[in-house]
Amino acid sequence: MDLNKDVKYIKGVGPNRVKLLNKLGIFTLKDLITYYPRTYEDRSKPKKLYECVDGEEVLIEVIACNRLTDAWLKGKTMQKLQVRDETMSATIIWFNQSYLKGKFEIGNKYRFYGKINKKFGKIEMISPVFDNIEKKQNTGRIIPIYPLTYQLSQNTLRKIIEAGLHEIEGNLKETLPDYILEEYKLQDINKAVKSIHFPKEFKDFNIARNRLVFEELLIMQLALLELKNSYIKEEKGIKYSKDVKMSDIINKLPFTLTKAQLRVIEEIDNNMESENNMNRLLQGDVGSGKTVVAMCAAYKAVKCGYQAAIMAPTAILAIQHLENFKKIFDEFNIRCELLISGMTKKKKEELLQRLKNGEIDILIGTHAIIEDNVEFKNLGLVVTDEQHRFGVKQRTKIAEKGQNPDVLVMTATPIPRTLALILYGDLDISIIDELPPNRKKIDTLAVKKNMTDRINNFIKEQVKEGRQAYIVCPLVEENEESDLKSVEELYEKSRTEVFPEYRVEYIHGKMKQKEKDEIMQRFKNKEIDILISTTVIEVGVDVPNSNIMVIENAERFGLAQLHQLRGRVGRGEYKSYCILKYEGNGETVRKRMKVMCDTNDGFIISEKDLELRGSGDFFGTMQHGLPEFKIANLFEDMKILQMAQNVAIKIINEDPKLEKQENQELKNLIKDKFTKRIEI
Ligand code: ADP
Ligand code: MG
Repeated sequence: MDLNKDVKYIKGVGPNRVKLLNKLGIFTLKDLITYYPRTYEDRSKPKKLYECVDGEEVLIEVIACNRLTDAWLKGKTMQKLQVRDETMSATIIWFNQSYLKGKFEIGNKYRFYGKINKKFGKIEMISPVFDNIEKKQNTGRIIPIYPLTYQLSQNTLRKIIEAGLHEIEGNLKETLPDYILEEYKLQDINKAVKSIHFPKEFKDFNIARNRLVFEELLIMQLALLELKNSYIKEEKGIKYSKDVKMSDIINKLPFTLTKAQLRVIEEIDNNMESENNMNRLLQGDVGSGKTVVAMCAAYKAVKCGYQAAIMAPTAILAIQHLENFKKIFDEFNIRCELLISGMTKKKKEELLQRLKNGEIDILIGTHAIIEDNVEFKNLGLVVTDEQHRFGVKQRTKIAEKGQNPDVLVMTATPIPRTLALILYGDLDISIIDELPPNRKKIDTLAVKKNMTDRINNFIKEQVKEGRQAYIVCPLVEENEESDLKSVEELYEKSRTEVFPEYRVEYIHGKMKQKEKDEIMQRFKNKEIDILISTTVIEVGVDVPNSNIMVIENAERFGLAQLHQLRGRVGRGEYKSYCILKYEGNGETVRKRMKVMCDTNDGFIISEKDLELRGSGDFFGTMQHGLPEFKIANLFEDMKILQMAQNVAIKIINEDPKLEKQENQELKNLIKDKFTKRIEI
């Protein structure tokens, strides 16, 4: 049995279905059997006909009383079958299913599962699934429901998965070492995989799920610990002098720092002065003022005779940082320079030479900074901004350009502290949990489509007064499977029909970086009134004059992401608005929108996000900068996560490089799942 076997060789999978399966991310037998159900339907407990209630979905076991009739009805065909049990009779109805003719024998018993239609004491069941009484294919058991796309039915996928499970029948290699299985009383892999798809009872499902969640979280924890060991070296870090005072620069700032900023700066200062290497995560909501914290650290490093590097995820952000840094540092004669790709060769060479000679104190740039030919004279501090865009590899690579420099990672995606401690176990954490006092609350409202005209008029009024607006939509191209608005389509419509008198532009992730930077720069320069965009504007660009953000199909975004987007407005003196246009009436959708309207606190929002996030969520956990999980839910599974963390620590303590025979499968799993991801 080969787990990497192409799904096209699985029974029931033809060329068409291969494509559909691929769309779901299923390419191999292994992908197939680890494609876990979203939920389950209990079709195992039959009801008597007289107990059935109008509207409920039930299983009935009944005898066919006549042959199936097949009649024409307004362009469709209708099939009817009379059935009965000991309590009463009923009619089963299908449409356009002429092939059912001859499937039912009078006097034989069948199982049907479907929705009950009860009127005037008569019972009908419309378009149910069914089985012969001795078969348990579509009924008679707990049925898994999978997250699906269009065109592939539950029945089809279920059968394919069943065929896949049949192929591996009990022959999966155990991934967890015996000693762990025994100590934590975890189910073996074969039983777990089988029961997660086809649990006999719900209690089986729980046992199976626990084991699979544990495995997934254990692997993540081991990967994190391995990583930590790989870049935290035994050597001591730089011990910065106590004589250089961060207060010198704090006093030069045009505003008073918040208590939270001061506290965080002190934590960093202490860390820098100690002989321990700094590996610190700075969490703070959008607009909480992380940049000045980075400035203080850079100031200290430079005044102590070292160089500092500040790495931002986009050129425009790097430029923005440079401007802000120069405003403060020019006075101190501290030399800041910019390094981004696309500079002329000559200019770049000259810059690199000066960097090497120590004539540049602070280098600000994009990932161009980590290229091999960039050499520092004595790099003492590395700051990376918006961590989830980089990842550990880059962080390590730039740190290697110095002699064990201190590292500060800044992120604007707040996650609950308990979670942060586990997920960023490799870093110390500082949190700015307070916004500067001058911030105006961003008025947020959630509306349906029918408000579109009013919103557009509101945008026009604001633009007339000189403001600028963002309109964000989720996708770049028209998607055949849904009616989500695409950027280009919306742009065309806005430019020609809705806002013909204004300067409308668009920007999306598939454009070249240079084009994107150009558009953002023009927006900053007020050469554009309304910017239609995807989430590329998510990361910290500061345009204080923009005060409206409209988000189309807001139900499609994670809350943390909505919050990030919203943080683009409300950065200036103007009253700002965030308008969430959403579709759907589901309770979760409404709750999510309400959270956004009720609070501006990124930490509360991220907690709610994890809580309200359904599995199979469109954008997944990547928005948190966390790995995506197949089955674990970080919020629900916090207990298992803690357990997994303890086990991981124990394993790594005893076998730091996972060399023991018993840990080999774990090592393979880590390689399989995480090496790629962590390099993102
Ligand atoms: P973020 O944490 O999102 O990176 P920034 O560092 O860009 O936030 O700060 C956002 C804005 O707030 C900047 O214009 C900055 O100058 C300003 N700012 C930072 N701290 C304070 C403060 N304590 N009081 C007033 N304004 C501040
Ligand atoms: Mg920032």
